[in-house]
Amino acid sequence: FGDQRRNSIAINIDIESQWQPFNAAVTAFADHQWHAVPLPNNLPKSDDTAEIMTVTAPYDRREVVGTVTFANQVQIEAAISQAEDAFIDWSTTPASVRCRYLLSLAENLDRHQHELVALCHREAGKTIQDAIDEIREAVDFCRYYAQQATVNFGSPQRITSYHGIDQQLHYQGRGVFVCISPWNFPLAIFIGQITAALAAGNTVVTKPAKQTSLIAYRAIELLLETGIPAGVIQLLPGGGADIGQYLLSDQRIAGVVFTGSTPTAQTINRMLAARECAPVPFIAETGGQNAMIVDSTALPEQVVRDVIRSAFASAGQRCSALRVLFVQVDIADRVIALIKGAMAELSVGRPELHNTDIGPVIDTQARNKLLAHIEMLTKQAKLITQTPLAPECQWGDFVPPTAIEIDNINLLQQEHFGPILHVVRFKASELYQIIDQINQTGFGLTMAVHSRNERTYLAIEQHARVGNCYINRDQVGAAVGVQPFGGQGLSGTGPKAGGPHYLYRFTQDCIKPINQ
Ligand code: GLU
Repeated sequence: FGDQRRNSIAINIDIESQWQPFNAAVTAFADHQWHAVPLPNNLPKSDDTAEIMTVTAPYDRREVVGTVTFANQVQIEAAISQAEDAFIDWSTTPASVRCRYLLSLAENLDRHQHELVALCHREAGKTIQDAIDEIREAVDFCRYYAQQATVNFGSPQRITSYHGIDQQLHYQGRGVFVCISPWNFPLAIFIGQITAALAAGNTVVTKPAKQTSLIAYRAIELLLETGIPAGVIQLLPGGGADIGQYLLSDQRIAGVVFTGSTPTAQTINRMLAARECAPVPFIAETGGQNAMIVDSTALPEQVVRDVIRSAFASAGQRCSALRVLFVQVDIADRVIALIKGAMAELSVGRPELHNTDIGPVIDTQARNKLLAHIEMLTKQAKLITQTPLAPECQWGDFVPPTAIEIDNINLLQQEHFGPILHVVRFKASELYQIIDQINQTGFGLTMAVHSRNERTYLAIEQHARVGNCYINRDQVGAAVGVQPFGGQGLSGTGPKAGGPHYLYRFTQDCIKPINQ
């Protein structure tokens, strides 16, 4: 990776020629201020009582990035009404026409990728490589769902009967879909949810994570620039508890898609269940207590490369990230020594720097929670190592990547969403016991297995109740259309995002006679 790049087995950064223009964009937008308000502009205007949040950069809280004006109750009400009014026209627009707007959004995202990388860096604290990946994934979602909807919903499916009267199966939008997206993939998952709902024929009211409202706002501006019909998309920036409360209690909403923490998904589920109206679909993609199991046949160097990426890429702020590494005692000392060495090579600091592997976490609250967990664990478990922070980290919300040895996964009662790796040693005879323990956490998102013994990895693959199981590789970075992504149990309802069944959950199917 060139002279500036240390010889590290840490997270890969793209080749110089691709990286350079993005780095220049970060410099060009260094003083830019972005502002987010409810969209579209024909919503009632925010008044003097509107709550306005100042956005600062996660890597340096002295740096102001812009402001977010939160939506009020009148705007929420108007957004749902407008989305409802737009529904019939949008749902009866041919899928291929609906999808043209998504394809043109993909082009717009591409065209503005440098600004979007700069914005992901400044608002979400993303490293440049993470920000590039974010834009690419958002573009992939637009194109993949457009293609899926055109193929599957472009014309009704003929159902041949045995009594001579054939029928047609139509897939239609359900109505106003509520999309609630997370801050860790502020563009990719935000765009993924919206494009899925729109492609399937729904109109959308979206509430992005408050920490990344500016990115969401810019993305909706780019969607509106495609000429998508009025009312089809509504953006409501604001806090989850306030806006969620109004949105989810409204009887006009026809479905909810959510990505975020398991407790929040449970709250949404309860709120939807408490409504005295028709039940609506709830698609949730939530957290994980993701494990990697390494047996004695694994190649330690390969394991360590994949551990470092799985646990620490994006500062561990991926729901797919590795949280608990199970390593067979026979090779544990060697693997742990290599992890220590690799973590000493990681560079934690300002996310725009070329040699930075790990940037900040999203906010001070997240940082404090993670630091409290590290402090609690170091009292009762064995610290393996902690990567030091660069001096400039004092201005931002950084958490030192930490590896810690624990006796048992049961010590972890919840997901710790950051750069903390827990390591557990196991004996060969305990393999099935640890798979049971992993299953008993109730989470089931990702798992990785490192083994050169086919019987072992096939057995693990069969017994583990997880959504995405990876063999002899890392466990993050599922690619749209290639590794459909989503979990089981406490990790989500499915269907998997970026997979062939996802869009169906956003539709209502309906049997009609064939027009003779
Ligand atoms: N799809 C992402 C991955 O495979 C994770 C998504 C998330 O964190 O919500 O890494």
